[in-house]
Amino acid sequence: MIVLDNKQSVSDEETEGTHMDVTGDDHEKMKEEIHRMAKDLSIPLEEAARAVYSAYGRPPPVRTNSVDFLSELVPGMRGVSVKARVISVHSALRQDGESSYFFGMLGDSRTSVSFSCWVDFDFQPGEALVAQNVSVREYREKLEIVINRYSFLSPLGSMEGLIPPVEDGVPQSISELEEGSVNIDVQGRIVDLSSSKVNVKGVEKEVLHGVLADRSGRIDFTCWGPMKLERDTCVRLIGGYLRSYRGSNRLNFDAGCVIRELPSDVLPPLADLVKPRPARLYTLMESGMSGPVEVRGTIVDLRPGSGLFLKCPECGRRAVKGQCTVHGRVEGIPDLSMRAIFDDGTGTAMMRGDRWAVESLLGQDLDTITSEVKETMDPELVEEALKEKLIGKPFTLLGDPVQDDYGLTIFIQELIPGWDRERLMEEVSSLMGVVL
Ligand SMILES: [Zn+2]
Repeated sequence: MIVLDNKQSVSDEETEGTHMDVTGDDHEKMKEEIHRMAKDLSIPLEEAARAVYSAYGRPPPVRTNSVDFLSELVPGMRGVSVKARVISVHSALRQDGESSYFFGMLGDSRTSVSFSCWVDFDFQPGEALVAQNVSVREYREKLEIVINRYSFLSPLGSMEGLIPPVEDGVPQSISELEEGSVNIDVQGRIVDLSSSKVNVKGVEKEVLHGVLADRSGRIDFTCWGPMKLERDTCVRLIGGYLRSYRGSNRLNFDAGCVIRELPSDVLPPLADLVKPRPARLYTLMESGMSGPVEVRGTIVDLRPGSGLFLKCPECGRRAVKGQCTVHGRVEGIPDLSMRAIFDDGTGTAMMRGDRWAVESLLGQDLDTITSEVKETMDPELVEEALKEKLIGKPFTLLGDPVQDDYGLTIFIQELIPGWDRERLMEEVSSLMGVVL
């Protein structure tokens, strides 16, 4: 491991980590020559560096500190060499608004550490690397590895020591996963799987999306590949990380993780795992979990936007007074929707239903409703009927929760009047069991 030029490394404090003011005279040239020489002559970088340094009339480079694990890093370390796997990488514009820098997470078998990189970073999540001559600082109360133009990055062929061992530990259940969790060890059944192509730095890549479920819950995942996954298989996945995406937690992983297929009987069959789960609104708001749920509660209010309305035939947006905001003057076609506040005693959610939900609730189809409104000339008719059926009444709501800036919304799959007596009785007797 080598340091190209100790005297030239500028502290992060001086440059606030941007390293924009650093001007290394011969530095880039030397770096290139060292790499070329090492490659052409198949000699270690260290040896090539010594030769190039001496050719430039400089003192030989010094050895740097190599740590075995990222957990050994402490702020203030310089000239360090680390082995790591890329857990995540993102880029952002620098303050000059033109050039960009990279940041993300690096991990090994024990821990993960943030990094920032102020030169090109050509590694993808799941790839392993050796980063030489990096420094370590504390940034926003977190440890950060700083990679700058004086650092060497080279690919590492093996993931050995960089992934938590499968034999150790017990997998977490899905409901235990929290935003920001890294090096996740979890098992579940893949209950949904699809793929899409994304463009990563001009290269088309196949990305897999799906849902992993266990007895405790389910979570959307993205696999940045390349990896072979199959729907309806049980897997144990080690090394993924969780990020919040549009208010829902999403499990991310890639080829850098360990995936082990498990016997199919470790988890309930797919059909059971995709059934709506009984849930409380409070836990839904907290967990950001996905998938259909079953909530029992009362409807406390009907919101504007419920009832019969006219929509643009082109885009489906509401046409107000025959005007679509996008398509201008249009001949609106009738449609139905409802928005109501659902309360289960632990929290509230916006409940949203489409034409189908309104029709089945009112027991009338759209045509009948439309002609009735025309006859009575009362546009509020549907809203009134909905209020009558809904407000203050108990319902069992089956639907898909979505959490966003406006709060929790549940899109109705099914709205059953009353509460499931059998389940209610079960719950009461289990409660009684606890009490007694
Ligand atoms: Zn339109």
